[in-house]
Amino acid sequence: MNVTIITAFPGLFEGFLSESMIGRAVSKGLISIEILDLREFGAGNYRQIDDYAFGGGGGMVLLPEVMEKALFSVRSRKGGGFVVYPSPQGDLLSQEVVETLAAREHVVIICGHYEGLDERFVSLEVDREISMGDFVLTGGEIPAMAIVDAMSRLVQGVIGKETAVIEDSFYRGMLDHPNFTRPAEWRGMKVPEELLSGNAAEIEKWRRNEASERTLSRRPDLLGRANIRPYLPRGVYAVLVHSPVLDRKGEKTTAAVTGLDLSDIGRSCRTFGLDRFLVTTPLASQRALVKKMAAHWTEGAGGTLNPDRKEAFGMLKVFPSLDKAAEWVAKREKEIPLLVGTTARARAGSFHWLEVKRRILREKKPVVFVFGTGSGIHDEVLDKCGAVLQPLSGGPGDYNHLSVRTAAGIVLDRFFGWR
Ligand code: SAM
Repeated sequence: MNVTIITAFPGLFEGFLSESMIGRAVSKGLISIEILDLREFGAGNYRQIDDYAFGGGGGMVLLPEVMEKALFSVRSRKGGGFVVYPSPQGDLLSQEVVETLAAREHVVIICGHYEGLDERFVSLEVDREISMGDFVLTGGEIPAMAIVDAMSRLVQGVIGKETAVIEDSFYRGMLDHPNFTRPAEWRGMKVPEELLSGNAAEIEKWRRNEASERTLSRRPDLLGRANIRPYLPRGVYAVLVHSPVLDRKGEKTTAAVTGLDLSDIGRSCRTFGLDRFLVTTPLASQRALVKKMAAHWTEGAGGTLNPDRKEAFGMLKVFPSLDKAAEWVAKREKEIPLLVGTTARARAGSFHWLEVKRRILREKKPVVFVFGTGSGIHDEVLDKCGAVLQPLSGGPGDYNHLSVRTAAGIVLDRFFGWR
């Protein structure tokens, strides 16, 4: 992490850069933060850096030539650099913004003061304006510290235990669980028993549950971008149904198995952390074919040739029907799963995916996502589902013909993607 901060008040950063975790990270060389004093570039004997705003109003504006000189001096030594201007008019700072900034090689933060920067300098030189929130501070130094602090946490070694970052609020979209320390009882309030149990699995389960309850009750809006897989205590499965499905005329039929569906959906299931990929077809010859293909990639020559595909096919299990597949899941999980159907057709009583995401988190049941081949799943199957998702769609148009492989990838990403 390489950051330059241009400021008229370099003294404000002294404690920030020498104390606590940031201080340690700087002295260990894990992060490099340069403070550039804007006054060094000031005009005339008085090192003037600002002047009255045109049009009056009393406020001072930082001089564009001075800002330009300071910025060019950074560029002449360090090359480019992504220029950030903390401003109440910018994009709101969030964990996503921090992660995007942390991916830059060099970030230059320009601290405003008084009325701020001359707008011409902003339009020509600033890459991104970032706001701390809907309030006005006296200068950009505190925002610069907040940005640098949040970026530093993502640098390996800055935080003692990296798992701490993963557990933090907003990292991958969930709020953190509550924390407690000694004494185990304080002012009549006891620390939850699970945390005192010494049982690591029990503690982890309690923490995940608390984090998901908190996110659901306090910030359900965050769940759109959260990967909820680690917060589900039960298994998650995808099933690909080949019968009964619809043909192009809307008639009931049985579709043939295709290698591409098996391989691609298997890969999506593996990528998004599902437990198994279940394939159903009532035709014994087709089930034998699926098993033969899977064996080629898991046990035969294919596995040595392509280990990634071996893993994908290793997730596969074949059943004669959705009922049989659901029975198998229920037995494995010791609980009847929630079947989540998918369809490209509008259907009364279907749910927005975010509603289902919240429900899955709340109900804590095993989940089976049901995908269909042919021209979609027959209503007979959708009627068995506890929830059916509204169709994936690119807008109000009437064309939403995605392959089942694409649909499975999109649906799984919405629920289990690290977004
Ligand atoms: N005239 C500006 C406006 O209303 O948009 C406010 C200027 S403010 C008094 C001075 C400087 O503080 C700004 O240039 C900016 O660098 C910083 N600042 C103030 N509030 C901020 C916020 N909410 N987020 C980020 N930076 C802020």
